Amino acid sequence: MTTTLILCDCLGSMQPDPKVMETVGELRCTRVHTSLCQDQIDRAAALVDKGNVMIACGQEARVFADLAEDIGAPEPRFVDLRDRAGWSDEAAQAGPKMAALVAEALLPPLEVRQLDLNSDGQCLILGPAETALAAAADLAGELAVTVLLDPDEAAEADLPNGHEFEVVAGRLTRASGGFGAFEVTIDALQMLVAGGRGARRFTPPRDGGQSRCDLILDLSGTTPLFAHGRDGYLRADPRHPPAVARATIQAAGMVGSFEKPLYTVTEPALCAHSRARITGCTRCIDACATGAIAPDGDHVRVDPLVCMGCGGCHAVCPSGAIGFAAPDFGTITRRLDTLARAYRGAGGTAPRLLVHDSGFGPEMIGLAARFGRGLPADVIPFEVPSLTIFGHAEMLAALAAGFAGVEVLLAPASERGLIGAQADLARTISGRSAAITLIDVDDPDRLSDTLYAARAPDLPEPLDRPIAARGSRRQVARMAARALHGLPDAPPPAPIALPM
Ligand code: SF4
Ligand code: SF4
Repeated sequence: MTTTLILCDCLGSMQPDPKVMETVGELRCTRVHTSLCQDQIDRAAALVDKGNVMIACGQEARVFADLAEDIGAPEPRFVDLRDRAGWSDEAAQAGPKMAALVAEALLPPLEVRQLDLNSDGQCLILGPAETALAAAADLAGELAVTVLLDPDEAAEADLPNGHEFEVVAGRLTRASGGFGAFEVTIDALQMLVAGGRGARRFTPPRDGGQSRCDLILDLSGTTPLFAHGRDGYLRADPRHPPAVARATIQAAGMVGSFEKPLYTVTEPALCAHSRARITGCTRCIDACATGAIAPDGDHVRVDPLVCMGCGGCHAVCPSGAIGFAAPDFGTITRRLDTLARAYRGAGGTAPRLLVHDSGFGPEMIGLAARFGRGLPADVIPFEVPSLTIFGHAEMLAALAAGFAGVEVLLAPASERGLIGAQADLARTISGRSAAITLIDVDDPDRLSDTLYAARAPDLPEPLDRPIAARGSRRQVARMAARALHGLPDAPPPAPIALPM
């Protein structure tokens, strides 16, 4: 079914070429508008009302989505051609890249399985008495709040007389679980005595108190309970009132039913964790910073409550027993193939792939485009939720699909060691060491300069006969490697060696 691409040149600041984009097929472009989100909003409404439209604007997606809702039309899809292609020193040559980005945006939306999470609003607040009690008073109308105070401070604190929320004293020694199912252990636990005259008193302390809660609001300002974050665990520095207010407001909304993506899938039959009680492989366990992976007999098990979706396990697993599902590997390779084919189909020759995360990457690209040189015309941005999901198999698949190079834009919090090891592996397997680069800059201008400088003729030529590799990561890595070395089609993958 033909999709209508509604074009806008953003107040004349770029020149999208409808003819080049229509090389994608199944696509009809409108004329180029110039102020679709404001002066021409009526025109936008008329087009959106016809359904099956895509709007070439990322910045004002919210405006158009609201417009569609107001007129009872299906929500349009969006593609950002401006920051990623149109605002560039090489905008005049960016047609093939725009076609590629449109083709990618036309792919079916990703469907990710979700985990249902339920929160009854049981909230544990940690922190100094003044801050924690104030937050508890604010949240008491929304959540069932318990404040945990340090025993020394609790003895001196000005405690409330009412029953709006609970106050206990003690020291939290252990926390596990996740949103909707936290478990905590508290030593020196003291409960507040209800009756009596004079200052409020606590029961005698006892160690090893156990409790459960749905969320934790940590206003202690000390070492986080979960170094790599956890759904349902909110933190704010008590010396920073706006941060405390933000976390408190966020906590207030965390009651009811929620969904969390199921980031990983496992295939126990492929797992080489152990046999006959001899441990063979612990790579995913070692790579998982959140501690979500644990041995489960001969295999491993991922706790979906704890998993934060970094994809590190998927990148290091040698057997394909653990995979990433949001997006899955097949979706990644389909996107790569679609981008490369559409780029070539629109007359481009040697595209480079710029892999970036979903936070730092768009910000850098947006700033480079707005205030600097933007991206070169041959650089196609490729967003992934976490850079660690783009391992050596994905890099090889990109080269085999016809990309001349793969550049990975590291974010400040990226796992540099893991990503670097995957890049080294891809360089070794592909034999194209210059084709895979990690970019570690935090200045948008330096990003542009690096990308403009690192291009052909330094890069190897892309494959003459690109392949759309399909299958598991191991199969694709093998097929891609053979294609990159000019060998005939790959044989079926060899069985993995298990410990005896
Ligand atoms: S995706 Fe990341 S957090 Fe989740 S299990 Fe794998 S390594 Fe751990
Ligand atoms: S890395 Fe893969 S093979 Fe090794 S223990 Fe984890 S899931 Fe099993």
